[in-house]
Amino acid sequence: MVYLDHNATTPLDARVLEAMLPYLGRFYGNPSALHRLGRLSRGAIDRAREQVAALVAVRPEQVIFTSGGTEASNLALWGLSQKFSSARLVSGQTEHPSVAEPVAALAKIKGWSLDYLPISSGGVHALPSDEYFSKGPVIAALMKANNETGVLEDPRPLGERLRALGGFLHVDAVQAAGKIPLDFASTGAHTLTISAHKIRGPKGVGALILDPEVRMSPMTWGGGQERGLRPGTENVAGIVGFGIAAELAKKELETRAAQALSLRYQLEQGLSELSGVTLHAAESPRLPNTIQFSFEGWDGEALVMALDREGFQLSSGSACASGGNEPSPVLMAMGVPADLARGAIRVSLGVENEAHEIDAFLKTLKGLSRASHERQE
Ligand code: PLP
Repeated sequence: MVYLDHNATTPLDARVLEAMLPYLGRFYGNPSALHRLGRLSRGAIDRAREQVAALVAVRPEQVIFTSGGTEASNLALWGLSQKFSSARLVSGQTEHPSVAEPVAALAKIKGWSLDYLPISSGGVHALPSDEYFSKGPVIAALMKANNETGVLEDPRPLGERLRALGGFLHVDAVQAAGKIPLDFASTGAHTLTISAHKIRGPKGVGALILDPEVRMSPMTWGGGQERGLRPGTENVAGIVGFGIAAELAKKELETRAAQALSLRYQLEQGLSELSGVTLHAAESPRLPNTIQFSFEGWDGEALVMALDREGFQLSSGSACASGGNEPSPVLMAMGVPADLARGAIRVSLGVENEAHEIDAFLKTLKGLSRASHERQE
């Protein structure tokens, strides 16, 4: 089996599992307890907070652990919205559902306007007009790296603009963390989301990173954990795993990125030699590990299933959105025709992938292309 779906999730690193196991076994103390076992768990969380903080170049107090990226973005958007009796919402057009849906829900619940940032055909967003900013407070969301196309954004100018005007910017950096250098300050964000399972850590744990100046309301109540912003007994083993995964991702970032980029180039070169392939956002700055393309004559989901039968695991777009036969909303926002968008599949590479797997994948694609042509004749 060849796994090419690392933007959906990654395998758990063996070193992460090893670090987690004691906290699923003998170190079971509640981190809020005063006794020795409790203090052991508290110490482990403190260490993990430092490791996660280092990945995004912030102080440990700026890290709020959550149950994952989805919860972190919901908390940010909800928490920021409570600061205003009236505000406007503005969002990128290709946000992950964990941002797009809470933004749309807030607009509905609060009765606030929701606008979308202008986007290029390469999937990169631009600032709204100057006039837009003059009409009152704005809460904005713009992702750092897109999960489908891998397109990289520069949210900083938007963040700076909003900072000067008393507005707020939330950045979803779930796909960027651990794949490109990521420094919280350079994103311009007031709040930023990351998630453990995209960086070889466990599922069900993530973090919201806060600007030290930002004060906001919780979304749930019931304890003082995580500075009262995410109450409830902590997922100690998960947080420990996230910490180690973050430390390893930071230490190994350059080698992981270089390896992914070399495989991406190999795959792109091979795809360019196949007829009927359209590479999406080919000219835009992209994550080193992500390639999205459409294959003429194939529907994306049918192609995913055909490749699965041949032993290749990948997605037809965002894994969370799969299950329907709708064209990818990300590609539609970029102006890709519906037929082509419906045929898109995504390869997302990881550290365990090797050059011979890419060769085998290209060979299989060639075979499927031949079969599809013969069907059509
Ligand atoms: N944001 C992006 C860009 C993602 O790709 C994902 C997961 O696919 C998420 C957020 C959600 O993160 P989690 O699975 O930790 O809730």
